[in-house]
Amino acid sequence: MTAITTRSIPFFNYRDAFTAHENAYVEILRDVIRRGAFIQQQDLADFERNLAEYLGVKYTIGVANATDGLVMALRVTGVGPGDEVLFPSHTMVATAAAVAHCGAVPVPVECGDDHVMDPSDLARALTPRTRCIMPVHLNGRTCDMDAIGAFASEHGLRIIEDAAQALGSTFRGKHAGTFGFAAAFSFYPAKILGCFGDGGAVVTDDPAAAERVRRLRDHGRDDAGDVREWGFNSRLDNFQAAVLDFQFRTYATTIARRRQLAALYDELLRGLPQLRLPPAPGADARHFDVYQNYEIEADRRDGLRAYLKDTGVGTLLPWGGKAVHQFGDLALRGSLPRTEHLFERVLMLPMNMMLSDHDVRYIAGQIREFYGC
Ligand SMILES: *Cc1c(COP(=O)(O)O)cnc(C)c1O
Repeated sequence: MTAITTRSIPFFNYRDAFTAHENAYVEILRDVIRRGAFIQQQDLADFERNLAEYLGVKYTIGVANATDGLVMALRVTGVGPGDEVLFPSHTMVATAAAVAHCGAVPVPVECGDDHVMDPSDLARALTPRTRCIMPVHLNGRTCDMDAIGAFASEHGLRIIEDAAQALGSTFRGKHAGTFGFAAAFSFYPAKILGCFGDGGAVVTDDPAAAERVRRLRDHGRDDAGDVREWGFNSRLDNFQAAVLDFQFRTYATTIARRRQLAALYDELLRGLPQLRLPPAPGADARHFDVYQNYEIEADRRDGLRAYLKDTGVGTLLPWGGKAVHQFGDLALRGSLPRTEHLFERVLMLPMNMMLSDHDVRYIAGQIREFYGC
């Protein structure tokens, strides 16, 4: 192999994400520490209020991470032993783990051509024990909530949304995370709104659910300090909240830039018969996607991945290359032929704010070179 690496485009560049706003971040850190404002302080309250306003929800509760957020959301929904919860197997294991931690059974379903939950597979997985559906708005695309919502009402199921990847994404003008009884967002560093460690939020319009999640995240304590139930220690650090609030001020610009990058990928790669691309921005007027990831399907995927690596381009296999039901030790029910086929072809290309147009042109050029066209 004599390929000369002329560029280096990592899948995600944490260092550059920091240095782009280094002075502001250091100032935030200094300010928070000087005030000694670490746990459940003003910056958290400010961020929670701004997030609620942006989404148009009544309540947001900052939590330690989205996984905990999903556990608490399911708990306050009443999901427990004996219940089954439908989730798309193309997701992070966290979605299903949250169900298992409530003592319920996660039941995997297929995803569609756009890689999010396929509503037409829900009926197959339904049993008399099904209690809840967890749509996952994967890659920054909101699921078809018309179809999922209709199925849920028809069968009396609650919806808890895994909106970990979808802050700002909408379906028919309505925000991901506002369709169900409650939802969780993630602020993990590589998420579109990402802090310097773990972070998350639960959102809901239900006052009783909000009050309970607020208690659960803080050892089950209410405002008076009375312990009302067994809780968790799952608070969003005040420093992380201050960082998030800072990033949130320019969030519209962030989304616009990601959609621009997606449009450029689409323009440069659309003609290749070896690939299936994500829906382009504006391809379906109902969807406003924020492109947490740019997840393609590719013929000879592993060869392409190795070729890109040799030419300096970092890619990623989602979840290490397996859908949740393919982790045999978890012993989940059933096989999902379409999802399994997808996982032989799926690949994530770089998609982040450090990426230049020139980088995208280079990546697309290398892909064309690999396929000889
Ligand atoms: C990141 C992610 C999670 C977990 O979020 P954490 O904040 O890391 O707990 C859950 N579901 C999906 C789809 C994710 O991408």
